[in-house]
Amino acid sequence: MKIAVLGAGPGGYVAALKAAQMGAEVTVIENEEVGGTCLNKGCIPTKTMLASSELYSKVKELSSFGFDLNGEVVPNMEKIIERKRKVVDVQVKGIKGLFRSWSVELKNGRGELVSDREIRISKAEGGETVTADRIIVATGSRPAEIPTFPYDGKNIISSTEALELDSIPKSLLIVGAGVIGCEFACIFRELGTEVTVVELLPRAVATEDEEISRLLERELKKKKIKLFTGVKAENVEVKEDGVHTVLSNGREIISDKVLVSIGRAFNSDGIGLEAVGVEKGPRGDVRVNNRMETSLSGVYAIGDVTGGILLAHVASKEGLVAVGNIMGTESVIDYSVVPAAIFTSPEIASVGLREHQASERGIEYLTGHFQFRALGKAHAMGEISGMIKVIAEKDTDRLLGVHIIGPHASDLIHEAAVALRAGLKVKDIADTIHAHPTLSEGLMEAAEDVHGEAVHVPKK
Ligand code: FAD
Repeated sequence: MKIAVLGAGPGGYVAALKAAQMGAEVTVIENEEVGGTCLNKGCIPTKTMLASSELYSKVKELSSFGFDLNGEVVPNMEKIIERKRKVVDVQVKGIKGLFRSWSVELKNGRGELVSDREIRISKAEGGETVTADRIIVATGSRPAEIPTFPYDGKNIISSTEALELDSIPKSLLIVGAGVIGCEFACIFRELGTEVTVVELLPRAVATEDEEISRLLERELKKKKIKLFTGVKAENVEVKEDGVHTVLSNGREIISDKVLVSIGRAFNSDGIGLEAVGVEKGPRGDVRVNNRMETSLSGVYAIGDVTGGILLAHVASKEGLVAVGNIMGTESVIDYSVVPAAIFTSPEIASVGLREHQASERGIEYLTGHFQFRALGKAHAMGEISGMIKVIAEKDTDRLLGVHIIGPHASDLIHEAAVALRAGLKVKDIADTIHAHPTLSEGLMEAAEDVHGEAVHVPKK
């Protein structure tokens, strides 16, 4: 079986490796660098910068941890970016090493489908055509642009440029308080930037459970990040004294830079899809069924370009499903349990239903809460902000969702994901002995709180 994969992000490269491991002959066509948005302009660079900004915030607390600080610690953006590049580089080399190890052929250039079995690669020095039995389209997404805020790469920037700055901006206006906007707000604020965030929707990270959004908003405020919700950034003008942005609430914000993070546009144009007959949705998303098959037999699509859940681990899973179907192991994608993390400080992580979703579906439910400040481990770490919320079906006690804002939320969520996938009851979590002292005890206590049985809570 010959498979051609267009795009080497976490969707494409994982699909390529799995296909090779299952015995296929695989060619990957990548225009830029392996690892895609996730490794080069997304997940890993942001988390590397966040590691620097969080370390700096810890340094500022050194005296409370028992240290005397004699010299000044000054963040240096060039060095932070240099470290980020090194981290990315190691991972890029890792993927290329795996490709070599599994005999996946990597071709550099821009690919375009010319039939259901052929991809033409255009390169500066000429072109070539790759022929395959099956094609997987994994071309991902890019920052969406609003006409009133055209990117100039210097003053009005997207997440891509925000990861390549040579100095720390004195002030930054972020348009959009979604996942990416809030992550950058925390990174730059910790480094000393005056940050303002403007969001059209009524709350920050509006897809999360409302209690989580509200708690994040409180934490942003504590950091002195100015947040305007329910407000539109109407227009922007670059002047000598900075970028002037007019908001719908009548305010004018003057900042060094404006970072626009209002969503993603799908990389589905100019890659031959229309010509060969692959159907697209109104947003430019490639239409797929639950086997990751497009409307054209033999052509599959995975990851961001399909416009579903725009997360790296979802792209990878979709890649595995597509490959499974190509290689004859029947496979369908199941989105019922998708843990998601937001790397703000504190972190947010969620799995399953939000409270409003349970209500909308007419499910009778109970909730349990537990505050991190009631955990000895959180105090030892000096990270007591946040809470864990558990939602359970009232009649059956079945776990419906878990929402965490607090230290290591992104790691803690997976116990809940397994419980949800296994259809466990809240009592199963509550009755499981959790090691002490850990942050995980918080999930046990939140589960106990669903039935008013948590020990470390004051009498209600
Ligand atoms: P991509 O990663 O976008 O990869 C597509 C690849 O295809 C690219 O390398 C591109 O160059 C290539 N390509 C496109 N067109 C062509 C063509 N015609 N020919 C050849 N090659 C082509 N997700 C998380 O799960 N966790 C996070 O913490 C997280 N943080 C993020 C932070 C930021 C700032 C951003 C922007 C995104 C973040 N994401 C995160 C989202 C995540 O990066 C994406 O969901 C993921 O990268 C999608 O993978 P993909 O393989 O579908 O596409």
